[in-house]
Amino acid sequence: MPRKILVTSALPYANGAIHLGHLVEYIQTDIWVRFQKMRGHHCVYCCADDTHGTPIMLRAEKEGVTPEQLIARVWQEHKRDFDGFHVEFDNYYSTHTPETRQYADRIYSHLREAGLIEIRSIEQYYDPVKEMFLPDRFIKGECPKCHARDQYGDNCEACGAAYQPTDLIDPYSAVSGAKPVRKSSDHHFFKLSDPRCADFLKAWILPPRVQAEAANKLNEWLQSGLSDWDISRDAPYFGFEIPGAPGKYYYVWLDAPIGYMGSFQNYCDRAGLDFDEYWKPDSEAELYHFIGKDILYFHALFWPAELSHAGFRTPTGVFCHGFLTVNGTKMSKSRGTFITAESYLKHLNPEWLRYYYSAKLNGSMEDIDLNLEDFAARVNSDLVGKYVNIASRCAGFINKRYAGRLGEIDIAATAPFVAAFESGEIARGYEERDYGRSLREIMRLADLANQYIAEKKPWEMAKQEGREAELLEVCSTALTQFRDLTLYLKPVLPKLAEQVEAFLNLPALTWGPTWAPLPAGHCIQEYQHLMTRIDPKVIEAMVAENRQSLEPTVALADAPAPVRHAEHQQSQVEATPSPWEPFIGIDDFTKVDLRIVRIAAAAHVEGADKLLKLTLDLGGETRTVFAGIKSAYAPETLVGRLTVMVANLAPRKMKFGVSEGMVLAASDERGGPFLLAPDSGAQPGMRIK
Ligand SMILES: [Zn+2]
Repeated sequence: MPRKILVTSALPYANGAIHLGHLVEYIQTDIWVRFQKMRGHHCVYCCADDTHGTPIMLRAEKEGVTPEQLIARVWQEHKRDFDGFHVEFDNYYSTHTPETRQYADRIYSHLREAGLIEIRSIEQYYDPVKEMFLPDRFIKGECPKCHARDQYGDNCEACGAAYQPTDLIDPYSAVSGAKPVRKSSDHHFFKLSDPRCADFLKAWILPPRVQAEAANKLNEWLQSGLSDWDISRDAPYFGFEIPGAPGKYYYVWLDAPIGYMGSFQNYCDRAGLDFDEYWKPDSEAELYHFIGKDILYFHALFWPAELSHAGFRTPTGVFCHGFLTVNGTKMSKSRGTFITAESYLKHLNPEWLRYYYSAKLNGSMEDIDLNLEDFAARVNSDLVGKYVNIASRCAGFINKRYAGRLGEIDIAATAPFVAAFESGEIARGYEERDYGRSLREIMRLADLANQYIAEKKPWEMAKQEGREAELLEVCSTALTQFRDLTLYLKPVLPKLAEQVEAFLNLPALTWGPTWAPLPAGHCIQEYQHLMTRIDPKVIEAMVAENRQSLEPTVALADAPAPVRHAEHQQSQVEATPSPWEPFIGIDDFTKVDLRIVRIAAAAHVEGADKLLKLTLDLGGETRTVFAGIKSAYAPETLVGRLTVMVANLAPRKMKFGVSEGMVLAASDERGGPFLLAPDSGAQPGMRIK
């Protein structure tokens, strides 16, 4: 009986690039979905960008674009990276959509009707300059334990201490640099402490719905008592406003998993599927979430508790995996092992990584390690040395001597392949997400095929007269074995499998209930080269490139937009980029007095098309600068921002007044001007050197 299955991966946040750590999850999920589809099940894979929250809002502001523009651009980048790794979503959507809003409102109103929403006043840090409440990560100050400076509001990166933002010494807003004040506001809480939630979860968090190790962790949390969950944030916030609560927005973590529903609804509308059939409480469809262990709390406590009290079904399973390490340690920018999807694809074949990850995945929550040396060795030995080799050694004889036409096969040599098919062991490994087990079995069969060829020595038969029938049988048998291996590897290596299907002249391989050999008389195509070996030098080059991008001199040369000035004269803003300037000495550079400034005021200039009048605060002193940035910035979005100015540029009399310096911005034909912004913690008046 074909199953109805809905599968999701966690939504990547629309605030950064996809990297190899993310791909552990997407590749893993994609393989599982492809496997289910090959088995004839109706399986739908939905995902979306997670687009709401303060970081997105602030980053958009920093870039001088709207949040909608930012998330549209990041969506394109994420989609490009997923396509590059052959992650084939049935729908890749966004949480900033009417569908997600509709389900967020529906869930919220059901929880409210059930008496599970409570409004309480809480006191939090507030940035009086930006006029916003500050999330913990946006408050910095001195660590109360070790006195390291510039530590975040929730924990110290120097000594590891965890604390409340109110414990910080000399706290400041990482957004504006201002000293935060404490202010009260009403927040909406989901009452997870309600006995109805705890009772429900106690019965719910059991294997196989979650892995045994996840169940242990969840029970620990349950026993230490669940706290109510703050699900609202105050304006300004990029998200959905809560109906009937002006200025209050759903916290991004409330609407992120609801994005699964939004994406699926969008798919249903396109594909003519019935949403309710999958999401009604007594649905017979299966629902699985693939997630990382860091978000288990959200997916196995909050999410099912919400769904169960809002009139929806709960997940059939939550599949939790570990993190990625590279060469045995955390991915590191300075070691060059923090590798983005984009950077990997520039150098290496995506199916190599799909294969390596699969070999390491076993359905548990353990971390997996990408050892770069082992990666090259494994791919070269398994895929090139064992698998592809079978076809490359036998296809030529069939093509040249038998016009591509296969003969009878050797029943004894295919017997272990028939047995492997019938045992279902490889399929079970995939079903249980123990891909490593499946691949070991597949490679055992590849070894058998290679042994068969080595024993029969077709290259010797080809030289001896009267052995044509034997040669045809050996090569036909080996190609049937190769077909089997391709079928088994297809969830992992979908593009290579397509090439093999073309070469063997077969329709798309599916995992049917019965085994049959390639029939005698079947015609194959000319053999084309299928896969090259990994050259370890290419891996070294990729790592070196990722490491180098940190080094300041190289970073400058690599920077897509050379730093140019958006100062008082519009003509200079629009000038096309010149070739690199000649070298200067450090003495020349130090003549330029660069300072951090806060934009205290910004205004349109009557009669000027391109200029804004900026009042810049240098930490006491103020300056007036006319900047040619009107095309990219609305004056009200600039007030309170920190930027960089040349403070010792001789004052210059312009038509509209005297300009006392210039602010720095980047631009070229690709866009801009983009104002520079210092890292958090910088204060007006600080010298840049
Ligand atoms: Zn500390």
